[in-house]
Amino acid sequence: MRRDRHLPKKSKQEVEADAINPMDVLDMMADDDMPEEQASRPQPRNPRRRHAPRGRRPVETPAVEAKGRGIFITGTDTGVGKTVALCVLGTLLQKKGLNIGVMKPVQCGGQDADILSRMFDPKDDMQDINPFKATAELPPHVAFHQEKIRFHPQTVLDKYNRIREKHDLTLVEGAGGLMVPLFDTYFMADLIKDMDLDVVLVARLGLGTINHTLLTLRQAEDAGLNVIGVIFNEPALSPRGMAERTNPSTIRRMSRVPVLGIIPHLGQPAPEQYQAEIVKRCSRTMNIKPLLRKSPEARPLPWGAWDKQVIWHPFTQMKDWLKEDPLVIHKAKGSYVEDVSGRKYIDGVSSLWVNVHGHGHPVLNRAIKEQVNRLSHSTFLGLSNVPAIALAKKLVEIAPSGLQKVFYSDSGSTAVEVAIKMAYQYWHNRGKNRKTLIAHLAHSYHGDTCGSVSVGGIALFHKVYEKLIFKTLEIPFPDFYRSPEGKTYPGYTEECLQAMAETFKRRQHELAAIVVEPLVQGAAGMIVWPEGVLKKIRELCHKYNIFLIADEVATGFGRTGTMFACEQEKVSPDFLCIAKGLTGGTLPLAATLTTQRVFDGFCYDYESQKTFFHGHTYTGNPVCCAAALANLSIFEKEQTLQKLQPKIKYLTKALQRFSALPHVGDIRQKGFMVGIELVADKTLKTPYAWKDKIGVRVCWEARAKGVILRPLGDVIVLMPPLSVSRSEMDQLLDAAYEAVKNVTAESAAAE
Ligand SMILES: *Cc1c(COP(=O)(O)O)cnc(C)c1O
Repeated sequence: MRRDRHLPKKSKQEVEADAINPMDVLDMMADDDMPEEQASRPQPRNPRRRHAPRGRRPVETPAVEAKGRGIFITGTDTGVGKTVALCVLGTLLQKKGLNIGVMKPVQCGGQDADILSRMFDPKDDMQDINPFKATAELPPHVAFHQEKIRFHPQTVLDKYNRIREKHDLTLVEGAGGLMVPLFDTYFMADLIKDMDLDVVLVARLGLGTINHTLLTLRQAEDAGLNVIGVIFNEPALSPRGMAERTNPSTIRRMSRVPVLGIIPHLGQPAPEQYQAEIVKRCSRTMNIKPLLRKSPEARPLPWGAWDKQVIWHPFTQMKDWLKEDPLVIHKAKGSYVEDVSGRKYIDGVSSLWVNVHGHGHPVLNRAIKEQVNRLSHSTFLGLSNVPAIALAKKLVEIAPSGLQKVFYSDSGSTAVEVAIKMAYQYWHNRGKNRKTLIAHLAHSYHGDTCGSVSVGGIALFHKVYEKLIFKTLEIPFPDFYRSPEGKTYPGYTEECLQAMAETFKRRQHELAAIVVEPLVQGAAGMIVWPEGVLKKIRELCHKYNIFLIADEVATGFGRTGTMFACEQEKVSPDFLCIAKGLTGGTLPLAATLTTQRVFDGFCYDYESQKTFFHGHTYTGNPVCCAAALANLSIFEKEQTLQKLQPKIKYLTKALQRFSALPHVGDIRQKGFMVGIELVADKTLKTPYAWKDKIGVRVCWEARAKGVILRPLGDVIVLMPPLSVSRSEMDQLLDAAYEAVKNVTAESAAAE
């Protein structure tokens, strides 16, 4: 059978994508090419080469791929010959016609920076080439302290950016190895990471180098650095023994990092003959090709086309997606995510409301790695594990009072589902068989599983599944901006609460629970609650013996300015559902916290079969729990909530200018949750037509300006990580402002 008969004709990009096997590429990423003479095992297949048309020579990697890039030269130790290696690489690259820049950001004693500057004569300011210079030959943090030099990573970054723009390739020499401290909490590896450089490692050739080199490579991997290759340096003119002859291949084999070559002992040629000597002795044996390429994972492979072949994205009209050029992210740091072509974007929605302390926070990364090394998973059915217990203790400590038991699951939807099932079964276990009805508010969103979508109040998401989901009771809820005609505030709020009280009174014997999103209805478009309503609902629930389920999946972990939104009205719910920010935006984990009373409602003799028969295979996963513990420790250590308060004020002020725009109908904010509602007509509050896709278009425009946003219909959501800086906030707001202004003006002009 011809499988592709019914398939649409493939685009050129897709045909090319077909020709490359992703597994080959992943293999290639881990194992780049090496000098021919040193390869003792089969060469990794290079898909591009393999599929090159017959009879034509494969295209040489053009030098231009390197333009404006930099490479960091580090060593396994001090004195292994970093400067010599840099001279060799620089000279050979220069001979290829590249304009080479050099930098020695940190120098303690010695003349390296001068040597490099003299050799390559890059015409850069010496202050830029070597911004931090101590005279004493000591570890940098000691030398700097002694000589009253204050080291600032940002200074290095600024100077590096100035230099690299003027050259094809800039070679940056480190000081010592990766774990050389620049100050107590900042190492050379951190600087390399911040400078975003690939690494060449210089190692000694002789005995003892395997340990040093493998340790350094392991550390580089741990720090998330990309090592292009290892260069061995032969510091003295002595005969090569067995160790010297076998070390390079041993290290390549064991580390899977390519060996770029061995620098022979160059002796002491006169300075003016040094480069000629390098060309003579090293041209043949040194493989500089890998230096000319972008890091392998950043190569322009057709990830986008592959995505379109095989992925079905959530909440996405795939027909539209297939027409677009998907943005494929491959790394992130702080408030920025980076796509496979190397373009950086501000993460304006915290990777869908989950990120808290920025991407790649070292404390989170370390906690996850350490836990993986200890235990990745062990079942929670019949067994327990250490991080899950420690986290539960911590959660009980910080949650509103009375919440004493923690039930884990994996997503916001499941956390809500657990609460609903527990509330329902509680009454069943207690013999109150009529209490089976779950109430929710109008416009609510609690997730997408059948259970959680049943309590949803956004018709778009649950209408189709009407026959599949269970019956609930929807309670009218005030929405300031779109109140029914003739209703005003605060009268309408009162009216809603009055109606709720009457409903509760009338149906108290049927109602098991009400589920709410405290203070902000997120997915509905960031609808902010009137003050005091949450407290009032709590009172009503007490009065009529109905459980209050607080879905803090979106609002938890500082989003509204306090750890949990419930705190702001001093409310303790019967169930607290948490997920999104729980692991700081790193791993999927959720929890449903509840009271001793609910817990006791399930504690019966085994044969009564009143157990809570619910659980997921990965419940209580130790790695996720370790991440969540680290997330909470950062809240304490970095005083995240305290530091957030002035940022919230700043955001409020900065949002004011949006209100002057002709199509901004409403600006809603609670802490770090912002929704800007766009309307076709401001006076009449007329929504845009669905087909106008106004929100989507604004986000596209923002993306072109380097900011990632995701709308909720016509509502533009701004939800940066809590760790966002003022200048990043400015950048985010400027892009959002311009995007809203341009797209709405364009749309108005098209009318
Ligand atoms: C996102 C969200 C959910 C669903 O969480 P998932 O992890 O996507 O299942 C539930 N409730 C609220 C309030 C949310 O914002």
